Order: sequence, then C-alpha cells, then structure tokens
Amino acid sequence: MTTEQDIRPKERRVEIAPARDAQLRFIGTIRTPFPDRAACPRQGRQDGPDCRLVLDPVWHPALQGLEDYETLEVLYWLDRSRRDLVVQAPRHDDRVFGTFALRSPVRPNPIGTALVRLVRIEAGEVVVRGLDCIDGTPLLDIKPDRSAFTPKAPPKSTEGG
Ligand code: SAM
Repeated sequence: MTTEQDIRPKERRVEIAPARDAQLRFIGTIRTPFPDRAACPRQGRQDGPDCRLVLDPVWHPALQGLEDYETLEVLYWLDRSRRDLVVQAPRHDDRVFGTFALRSPVRPNPIGTALVRLVRIEAGEVVVRGLDCIDGTPLLDIKPDRSAFTPKAPPKSTEGG
C-alpha cells in the first residue's frame, strides 16, 4: 500500500539538518470529521462541514473581538508529514514540482493555512468551515482575514501612500 511516507518515482529527498527549536506552541487542537488523510479534502471549502478549533483554556481571552470577522486565517501543524522532499510528484500528474511550488503537506515546516468562514464562537471553541486537516491536528494560530483587517495603529512613517 502506498502511504504519504513513501517516496514516488521522480521524487527527490535530501538529508536535512536536525531542527532547531523555533519554540512553537500549539494553542489547541482542531476537531474535524476527517479521521485520516484519505478522508480530508485537498483544500477545505467554506461550504464544507463544521470543524472546531478547541483552544487550551489559557488562550480563551485571546478570542476577544474575533467574532467581528466573517473570515479567519487558520494556521495548523500538519504533524503526520515527512519533511525532507525537495521535489514531489503529485498523484495523478506525470509532472514533478519543487516543494515550494506546491501546497502539499510535505514540506520542511509542515504549516497548513486555510481561509475559513466563522460560524460561531462558544466557550473557547471556534466553529469554522473550510478546513482540510485530520481530526486532532495541532492548532498554531488564528488571525482575522487580512483583507478584512484594518490595522489598529496608523501607518508607520516609512510606509508610502
Ligand atoms: N490548506 C492547507 C494549505 O494549503 O496550506 C493544507 C493543504 S494540504 C494539500 C491538505 C492535505 O493534507 C489533506 O488533504 C491531507 O491529505 C493532508 N493532511 C491533513 N491533515 C494532516 C496532518 N495532520 N498531517 C499530515 N497531512 C495532513
């Protein structure tokens, strides 16, 4: 059986240096209806199923004001990915691509991002639509969609316009 851990013909891996600790903190866990990779969509859709961002209680106050945004940017850690491929051969495609030309979960730092629709916030849980990750995927960050976000401070003097 082929798994994501296998390497396909034409794919290329490299020896990678041991990771230096970036001191990332997981802020919670993502609950989705997708038990494994095969069940996940390739990219989430905002008309997809409800998913829950379950934050550790210490971060509950950090949700204040988030309800003002219809669309959020979610960052997550695709924790079951290998991290050493530089060239990949996507399934059902004869061509090969450099890792940075893809949105594959296989990358040196397996950070996934999605623009999701906010459904509701209740008791430290943010219900959203538009995710594509396995149930239990670690949550890295939540931000308002940048196109809807007005900076809270005036432009810096170095900014034009
Ligand atoms: N939307 C994100 C992005 O563009 O950065 C991720 C896209 S990636 C193509 C989504 C795929 O990653 C899913 O279809 C599934 O195969 C895989 N995946 C989901 N959760 C994962 C996890 N926790 N670890 C590794 N792979 C995962």
